[in-house]
Amino acid sequence: MILAVSNLKHPSSTTNGYCGRFAPSPTGPLHAGSLVAALGNWLDARKNGGKWLLRIEDLDTPRCVPEADQQIQAQLLACGLSWDEEIIHQSKRQVHYQRALESLNQLGCLYPCTCSRQTISNALAQRGVKTPRNQEMIYPSTCRPANLLSNSPEIFRDIRKAWRLALPQECLIAFEDLALSQQSQNLNTEVGDFVLRRSDDLFTYQLAVVVDDAEQDITHIIRGQDLLSNTARQIYLQQLLDYGRPKYMHLPLVLDEHGEKLSKQTLATQIHTQDKKHVLLELRKAAKHLGLNNLPDSENITIVEWLLAATCAWRN
Ligand code: GLU
Ligand code: ZN
Repeated sequence: MILAVSNLKHPSSTTNGYCGRFAPSPTGPLHAGSLVAALGNWLDARKNGGKWLLRIEDLDTPRCVPEADQQIQAQLLACGLSWDEEIIHQSKRQVHYQRALESLNQLGCLYPCTCSRQTISNALAQRGVKTPRNQEMIYPSTCRPANLLSNSPEIFRDIRKAWRLALPQECLIAFEDLALSQQSQNLNTEVGDFVLRRSDDLFTYQLAVVVDDAEQDITHIIRGQDLLSNTARQIYLQQLLDYGRPKYMHLPLVLDEHGEKLSKQTLATQIHTQDKKHVLLELRKAAKHLGLNNLPDSENITIVEWLLAATCAWRN
């Protein structure tokens, strides 16, 4: 049985412009790692008297697990991490992503690509480039035309092709991370022209997250460090689409005993939320990981009381 805790909203919620979000992909229930991300950004939103939204990032349908969305919601509620406003599902927002893609097309920075992973890997091997395991291949611009067409009417009729964003020659993106301070990435040498719509007709995470963060007026993006390497791409898309730049904070990852990030692939077990005792145990572990020490450890405390204490203790 799942225990739901009544809404805990900061008294001045929604009044000061702060808007945070938790954006899980429903590829499985919450595990210790995703709880750290959820708790970190919930605490930051509450501490700042802001709104906290839940967005289900279910675009990559082949990877989504039926039920996971409901499970995540029930687990968050059991932990007292309630959200403001209606939940958004990315799977229902295709028109918004298509519109953004069309704006980029008007700028003349899209081109179709028919490369498979194997083609890319061969092209890189020919140039003597080896991609370390667990790293994305840097696209060698194989399909990039010498002259990019702006606003080609053909562009979206051509299905079964991926659409990539052509980067300018110099594309160094720098940003200040609230936890990790100054960060930068050279998109040309570290990423390459990246895909915005896949050949199976799915919009990619990079495009969708940027559109949704802008349309939901998200001011603070707080998430795990595994997503840090995506931030420069997202900032560059924000610039092209004339969106504002939110503030970023990347939280320490929870690693398993082999030093790997917890995920479904590493068979991360879901958090236990069947009763208050288990919920407090999970919340306390997550808080400790976030560097919150000296929180009340009494067994008699309610989840709401514990969350209030954690909110007070959270950095500003
Ligand atoms: N949906 C992404 C994930 O679960 C997170 C997106 C984000 O926070 O930007 O990994
Ligand atoms: Zn290609």
